[in-house]
Amino acid sequence: MGDAVFSYWEHQTFLREADVVVVGGGIVGLSAAIFTRQLRPQARVVVLERAVLPTGASTKNAGFACFGSISELMEQERKGGAAGLQQVVQARWQGLALLRELVGDEALHYQPVGGYELFQHAERELAEECRAKVPYYNELLADVIGTTGIFADATSRRAEFNFGNVQTILENRAEGCLDTGRMMLALLRLAWQEGVIVLPGCPVMALESQPGGVGLTTALGSLTADKVLLATNAFSAHFFPELDVQPGRGQVLVTEPIPGLHLPGTFHYDKGYYYFRQVGDRLLLGGGRHLDFAAEATTAPGLTSLVQQTLEQLITDVILPGKRPRIDYRWSGVMAFGRELEPIIRPLAPGIFGAMRCNGMGVAMGALSGRKAAELISN
Ligand SMILES: Cc1cc2nc3c(=O)[nH]c(=O)nc-3n(C[C@H](O)[C@H](O)[C@H](O)COP(=O)(O)OP(=O)(O)OC[C@H]3O[C@@H](n4cnc5c(N)ncnc54)[C@H](O)[C@@H]3O)c2cc1C
Repeated sequence: MGDAVFSYWEHQTFLREADVVVVGGGIVGLSAAIFTRQLRPQARVVVLERAVLPTGASTKNAGFACFGSISELMEQERKGGAAGLQQVVQARWQGLALLRELVGDEALHYQPVGGYELFQHAERELAEECRAKVPYYNELLADVIGTTGIFADATSRRAEFNFGNVQTILENRAEGCLDTGRMMLALLRLAWQEGVIVLPGCPVMALESQPGGVGLTTALGSLTADKVLLATNAFSAHFFPELDVQPGRGQVLVTEPIPGLHLPGTFHYDKGYYYFRQVGDRLLLGGGRHLDFAAEATTAPGLTSLVQQTLEQLITDVILPGKRPRIDYRWSGVMAFGRELEPIIRPLAPGIFGAMRCNGMGVAMGALSGRKAAELISN
């Protein structure tokens, strides 16, 4: 006898055994589902997202379409060497190109505005080191990005921006920004269009490899699938505690409308620990994880007065000197980090695969991770 909760129609349409179940409806999960259907048009592909709206990073981020400011690149080169850096920048750049191709610039509201790294007076030495590296990174990344004029010294534009406590400005001309909400809406639309079934409000509690497939325990009951792709990013340790996936919460705020606001670009301050841009006529500002790394190494949503107050002070001291606009929105999202710069895209157990850990750059890398995962599970 069947259960009394779901109708025959619901069982036949939504809850039937799937060829592929993707757990997690963020950028990576949705892209993977879309590409799986493109590779296997007959496959029954279902995305299970635990919340009504995705609750990780994909609807919470700042919408920077970026691949690295010079100080970040220097740090990453120290970790992975020049070849490792080229590889990771390539993944970000190709990921952005793939996202733009998949969704379209208009739907993303993509704007090639350029990115700027700001250095405080106290960072004079670092600023000089980074400035000296401009020709080196222009050369190293020319083939990856397709131009030799990626980075430039933009300090002469200080008066235009009128920031407080900023001594040096370095520009990345190949970066841009997009509208995070529109991106996710477009990915959801595309997923349905491609024949993917997306079920929000359906947490997966457990996964079990079984002969010939995978069993899933979900809020809708038990389901089975030939293959499961775990795209749960920072939340993946719930299923595989041994994975090197460390959560990093990011807090963001958006101000009231500010008449005359002029921030034509994306901006990184204090080695990228703070980031800001204009959204409409408001200022979006995020970051400050480094103020208390331990407190922010959590998957729990939340705001702290330490980070929020520091962000507000940054507006008054640096971004809009002397101004203290009202804050209309505040939120947090959770990223996933690891010791290595590369994302995890690999089998995790029989029938179960993982695609996660974009190291805080999933707007850039997410679509490519999704496509690689789709190729992996479709082979
Ligand atoms: C504040 C902030 C600012 C950022 N800014 C930028 C930026 O400007 N540029 C950039 O490139 N990147 C940025 N990022 C990073 C980027 O947003 C992420 O790298 C990217 O969204 C990761 O996508 P994902 O699909 O892997 O993970 P997520 O978006 O976290 O998706 C994972 C999904 O899995 C779901 N889930 C978890 N557990 C379960 C379960 N048991 N059952 C079902 N579903 C489950 C979650 O609800 C979530 O929706 C930012 C991130 C944050 C938090």
